[in-house]
Amino acid sequence: MMKEKKQRNGKQDFSRQENKNFFQKDMELELLIEDMGTEGEGIGKKEGVAFFVKDAVLGDLVRVNIMKMKKNYGYARLIRVLKPSPYRTEPRCPMYRQCGGCQIQALDYGKQLEFKENKVKNNLTRIGGFQLEEAACESGKGLPVIHPAMGMEEPYHYRNKAQFPIGTDKNGNIVTGFYAARSHTIIPNRNCFLGVKLNEEILNLVIEFMEENGIAPYQETTGTGVVRHVLIRCGFATEEVMVCLVINGRKLPFADKLTAKLQSIPGMTSITLNVNEKNTNVILGDEIIPLWGQNYITDYIGNVKYQISPLSFYQVNPVQTQKLYEKALEYAELTGTETVWDLYCGIGTISLFLAQKAKQVYGVEVVAPAIKDARNNARINGITNVEFFVGKAEEVLPEFYEKGISEHPGAEMLHPDVIVVDPPRKGCDARCLETIVKMQPKRVVYVSCDSATLARDLKYLCGEGYEVREVQPVDMFPQTTHVETVCLLSRKAQ
Ligand code: SAH
Repeated sequence: MMKEKKQRNGKQDFSRQENKNFFQKDMELELLIEDMGTEGEGIGKKEGVAFFVKDAVLGDLVRVNIMKMKKNYGYARLIRVLKPSPYRTEPRCPMYRQCGGCQIQALDYGKQLEFKENKVKNNLTRIGGFQLEEAACESGKGLPVIHPAMGMEEPYHYRNKAQFPIGTDKNGNIVTGFYAARSHTIIPNRNCFLGVKLNEEILNLVIEFMEENGIAPYQETTGTGVVRHVLIRCGFATEEVMVCLVINGRKLPFADKLTAKLQSIPGMTSITLNVNEKNTNVILGDEIIPLWGQNYITDYIGNVKYQISPLSFYQVNPVQTQKLYEKALEYAELTGTETVWDLYCGIGTISLFLAQKAKQVYGVEVVAPAIKDARNNARINGITNVEFFVGKAEEVLPEFYEKGISEHPGAEMLHPDVIVVDPPRKGCDARCLETIVKMQPKRVVYVSCDSATLARDLKYLCGEGYEVREVQPVDMFPQTTHVETVCLLSRKAQ
């Protein structure tokens, strides 16, 4: 058996080798795009060899040019679409192919949602080993149910935050836009289709101010000049607007002229400077200097109010964030008597949402200023049944548990009804998961921005007495390949 398998593999390798030799750089091919890669590239096959083609859409017949051959696959550049896919749509943004901020704008939005559902499904089956059922054909066998990705009615202009770099073009003109791929050359563009329309108006005023007053853009190569980035934030519910200029130094000459101009923008609430004198790719420094108005704007998700400073982490798509949190709340099944932990809580957005329906919520977050924001947000909402802890989830939770279990074994916080986690892309640390299992919550609600690590963590929890009930992908970032997922796990009856 072993021998036979080996031989078969050997044969396969041989034919692949032949194909590899057959396909050479610069060769032109015709391909039918039959699949899409995780980064949104089209995938077409020729003689069993897969080619990845950026900007080709599922269903396109394309002419391509081979750029690079790897052992079993190749990369090719799109020359021409010979027959467009029925799923191809005209990208709204004329800068789409140059920018790289959006990967799948040329794919029909309904198909984008399908792509995202499939991405989650593939990771859960391949990495997690799960067998899933589609919501539409539920069999009652108790398998995890995957729902269609929750999309937006208007999948453009959804971002409430934008950060535009400021620089100089070859002729010495001040420019703003986005960085060309793998470089810091600015491609001029003031109108990003994911951001609010007001961004362009604000950028026009900032650049006009710089030109009129001889304020130089920062130069990365020499470390000279003043203005590095413009950060803009808008409260979608309140229509409040924040502008923060990131500068190389602590003083902006003629700052009063800038604030006078920006006050003409409807909703202008906060104008500040951020000090960043370091030679670094990190956009923001730590210090905020007020210029006009408050240092923050206010926004709402549902009926919870949040104060957001230039440095605060805040979800960039508030419309979809509300849908995501409502789903998390629904999965938590709170009646008012429950104790809940919210791990990786950021500025307490999910914690405060849950606190309205729970007895007590405990939040854990590693970034200390975020916890300061979280406590302040609890205060301005009059929410008193939350407590926040600074530290790593994988340290705070085990410490509480180990210490508490010896001193107060019956304490409710050690045996919560629900634990919510919303970790960064790398997922939860093993120590954090182990403690969750020891605490035996009835339900775990897992919010994830990377379905590969989600699959890994769900697999672990399912080996330790939990079962996945519901999987809901949510499209927080239309036109890109990112997908957020919220999952419900419940503890199996022992
Ligand atoms: N739930 C929040 C934030 C989610 S983003 C919201 O919806 O807005 C993930 C958060 O996890 C970030 O705020 C990040 O700072 C935090 N984080 C990263 N590693 C962590 C760790 N090991 N322990 C606790 N928090 C962590």
